[in-house]
Amino acid sequence: MYNLKAVIIGAGIGGLTTGIAMRQAGYQVEIYDRAQELRPAGAGISLWSNGVKVLNRLGLGEKLAAIGGEMNAMEYRSHTDESLSYVDLRPLFERVGQRPYPVARTDLQTMLLEAFGPEDVHLGMLCTGVEQDEHSATAIFENGERASGDLVVGADGIHSAVRTHVVGQVDRRYARYVNWNGLVKADPELCDPNLWVLYVGDSKRASMMPVGGDRFYFFFGAPMAEGTQVEPTYRQDELSKIFQGWPEPVQKLIQALDPEQTNRLEIGDIDPLDCLVKGRIALLGDSAHATTPTLGQGGCQAIEDAEVLTRYLHTTNMGVADALKRYEAARKDRTAELVLKARKRTSIIYGYVPAATQQWYSDLKQEPPEAVIDALAKVILAGPMG
Ligand code: FAD
Repeated sequence: MYNLKAVIIGAGIGGLTTGIAMRQAGYQVEIYDRAQELRPAGAGISLWSNGVKVLNRLGLGEKLAAIGGEMNAMEYRSHTDESLSYVDLRPLFERVGQRPYPVARTDLQTMLLEAFGPEDVHLGMLCTGVEQDEHSATAIFENGERASGDLVVGADGIHSAVRTHVVGQVDRRYARYVNWNGLVKADPELCDPNLWVLYVGDSKRASMMPVGGDRFYFFFGAPMAEGTQVEPTYRQDELSKIFQGWPEPVQKLIQALDPEQTNRLEIGDIDPLDCLVKGRIALLGDSAHATTPTLGQGGCQAIEDAEVLTRYLHTTNMGVADALKRYEAARKDRTAELVLKARKRTSIIYGYVPAATQQWYSDLKQEPPEAVIDALAKVILAGPMG
């Protein structure tokens, strides 16, 4: 279809990538975000090859490579510093045709925003509802303004307002653990600069991976009751207590991090939805399928959504609602499967059933690297770019 106008709610990874893809398809695009200033939530993100391939197609490959870290291997180590598994990831890159890129979120956001054009993102616009008729869809904002187009894309995250219009109220499920994350200067005493290391034990984990600019993205995870809060100043002390006795690099990491710049998040997801679209309204990214981050696929799926939605609008000619139905059919099972797979992995990593977690620690030692690569390749190759 030609000459469409899309109204996108949310200028996160999903909304911006959709905006870039739709612009390239020749559509008029307006993006609205409730934030007064765009600041990415979280410090880093690993874009696996399926997400990278879409960004390559959008002409962003070179820029992404420049901000990405060179991660060539992954290693699991125990909290008593025993190596449990070491996987050279380069055979994976050869198999799928593209390396993944761990990146700092600010760098990714800047890259996407510049590619779309910051002047066309309308900030301070809280969407409170959507309406549609046979010919158009309209987003309604708290300040009384309205924006109409041929379609509205709800890329407004896990607590999506647009989703309420499509499927009604959906509650976030708490995944029973807290994640701390941030960036530190790369240092070989913390981690090999081309390695993604994960220390695991006691149903907790501590991890570092390289991102561009000579930095490591780090994260910690530990089971915790819902509703705890710790002010930034005390986050280093909190981590020192939770990871007391863990190996030297973990202790050094805790000492090296800046507590004021360390995010502390309660992690959650949503149950797979029955529908992702309604007429001329489409859900995309976390609003459609928020997942726990244990597969590192949430952002990649938002990027895949952007590609598939734009492709159906561009290549079919039976009307917007028809294209949206095709988008839903292409994305629903793929994303639901990954949400449920990540949920299961979360339960194992974070000790929902302690015996299963212990079993996983011993399985890590037995699992051949080819099996790890095979599992990663299957997820990547099932994406829209193969
Ligand atoms: P968001 O990034 O949440 O963006 C939504 C936007 O909508 C925001 O800018 C918000 O201000 C705006 N908004 C919300 N409500 C409204 C409203 N009512 N009106 C107007 N604007 C609104 N994914 C990966 O692929 N790899 C990883 O390694 C990875 N690691 C992760 C680690 C952690 C700790 C977490 C929490 C997630 C991780 N993810 C990862 C998942 C990834 O961050 C998300 O899937 C991705 O950011 C979702 O993007 P989005 O654009 O759909 O939503």
